[in-house]
Amino acid sequence: MTQEEILAQFGPREAMEYDVVVVGGGPAGLATAIHLKQLAQEHGKEVSVVVLEKGSEPGAHILSGAIVDPRALTELIPDWKEKGAPLNQPVTEDVFLFMGEKGATRVPNFMLPPNFGNHGNYIVSLANVTRWLAQQAEALGVEIFPGFPAAEVLYNEDGSVKGVATGNMGVGKDGEPTESFQLGMELHAKYTVFAEGSRGHLGRQLISRFKLDEGRDPQSYSIGIKEIWEIDPSRHTPGLALHSAGWPLDEMTYGGSFLYHMEGNQVAIGFVVGLDYSNPYLSPFEEFQRFKTHPNIRWYFEGGTAKRLAYGARALTVGGLLSLPKTVFPGGALVGCDAGYLNASRIKGSHAAIKTGMLAARAAYDALQAGRQHDELAAYPQAFEKSWLYAELNKARNFKQWFKKGRSVATIMTGIEQFVLRGSIPWTIHRERPDHTYLKPAAECKPIVYPKPDGKLTFDRLSSVFISNTNHGEDQPAHLTLKDPSVPVNVNLAKFAGPEARYCPAAVYEFVEENGQPRLQINAQNCVHCKTCDIKDPTQNIVWVTPEGGGGPNYPNM
Ligand SMILES: Cc1cc2nc3c(=O)[nH]c(=O)nc-3n(C[C@H](O)[C@H](O)[C@H](O)COP(=O)(O)OP(=O)(O)OC[C@H]3O[C@@H](n4cnc5c(N)ncnc54)[C@H](O)[C@@H]3O)c2cc1C
Ligand code: SF4
Repeated sequence: MTQEEILAQFGPREAMEYDVVVVGGGPAGLATAIHLKQLAQEHGKEVSVVVLEKGSEPGAHILSGAIVDPRALTELIPDWKEKGAPLNQPVTEDVFLFMGEKGATRVPNFMLPPNFGNHGNYIVSLANVTRWLAQQAEALGVEIFPGFPAAEVLYNEDGSVKGVATGNMGVGKDGEPTESFQLGMELHAKYTVFAEGSRGHLGRQLISRFKLDEGRDPQSYSIGIKEIWEIDPSRHTPGLALHSAGWPLDEMTYGGSFLYHMEGNQVAIGFVVGLDYSNPYLSPFEEFQRFKTHPNIRWYFEGGTAKRLAYGARALTVGGLLSLPKTVFPGGALVGCDAGYLNASRIKGSHAAIKTGMLAARAAYDALQAGRQHDELAAYPQAFEKSWLYAELNKARNFKQWFKKGRSVATIMTGIEQFVLRGSIPWTIHRERPDHTYLKPAAECKPIVYPKPDGKLTFDRLSSVFISNTNHGEDQPAHLTLKDPSVPVNVNLAKFAGPEARYCPAAVYEFVEENGQPRLQINAQNCVHCKTCDIKDPTQNIVWVTPEGGGGPNYPNM
């Protein structure tokens, strides 16, 4: 049954009215909700705020590095320390390595541009910080609905955003309502704030509908794959933050690694690959596994007690200021990584997410007090342009673009821009094409042979997905949809050697043989919601939609 048929038979949907609906309970969405309530409390007013979160609980879908710059958090909740925020491990040492296959060269810290330094920052689990933010929000009276994905944007007759609708529950694989069917509900608001994180499913539709990206550079993304390990205490240095560039990626592929020593003998190790890579044989997952075998890295994971605890993956929005869309439209706003405020030169976006949530909250609060609704919150982008965040992103505006000229040029130019010019850069470098257009035909590329996993230091995808605690109800329509089902075999496999089987970090896409013919099998239940396929599919034939509520990974402390 189509959605229209379902609504005709079971509708109308129940509707709830709020002043502000926030889509996404990550740092950006929760900061929006918290600040709205703070402003209302400060002025003795009432503002009703609800946060919809697709994960089974706040934090369940959050995956980050993470080193957090506490500047925005301190603006939001000045006494976060007293309130028990889980920022317990300050960064004690920064190490930056240029990797060759057999060895590495450490960049002396005095030569690192200021934006690479982490003095005053904290190594955290952003998932746990998010859980804590959710508690703060609830204490202020914010309603949080976990397990409720916003599946559809609702519009008023004048075209402004009216709110969102949550997905239906209990629809079977065949699209027919089952015995447990429950119609989704509508949440109407004077303003709706979209905080879905990188490549938001609804944010993407809004950008296209309101042409928010007109006149901006195309957005750019990376995939980040991460594991958490408990390592031998003798090899653990609490607060050590190690970053690297170079091997195993070639000169023209953007990416690098992070290795953060957290509390409790745990380390977070991750690898980021720019989704503008060109060789369809490249597998970000296998590059990450191979990276761990480097002599400077594997040492941390040897020793009797080392054990991998968690795995996951997530896209990052890395285009920066030049790719930032217009962030307001009638009835709503985009905040955090749904808009694209991450500073790629620092691999940091959580401070930007919190800051932009606060700026949008202020604009929405003032508009509500003035009796306005469903119009553009122009005060939000205006306040952003006057903020420290704008200054920070403006300094780093060329960072990602330089990498299209190769890592060596990018390193030199980033050094000149950040170290010599201290961010006062007289030039601007633009990008012209979206990531999916960079993939070259397989015939023009060299296949990459990756080593087999050893099950101790390196692993395969299925055993990895297993420890992401990913779960999707079996009997539901696939949330990975193909516009044209013939494209995977006729175009992707024929021309690009089936890149989806490599870029997906969760083994969702598999080319299998059926009656002697290849067929794409989609194991949607494995999906960790990283959004890579939605970004990198060369013909943009794959469309990620929200699955039934609560589905997806259940990350503990990612
Ligand atoms: C590998 C990696 C390393 C990183 N390292 C760092 C770092 O060291 N420091 C740093 O500051 N930043 C880092 N970042 C970036 C940082 O994680 C993000 O900038 C930050 O999480 C953005 O916050 P957000 O609230 O905008 O989005 P998210 O954190 O992605 O949160 C979005 C939330 O919205 C929910 N959601 C999405 N769509 C819907 C929907 N339709 N309905 C309901 N809920 C929905 C999601 O489940 C999620 O909970 C890293 C990111 C990655 C991937
Ligand atoms: S199916 Fe797409 S969104 Fe899901 S894990 Fe694979 S690449 Fe990521």
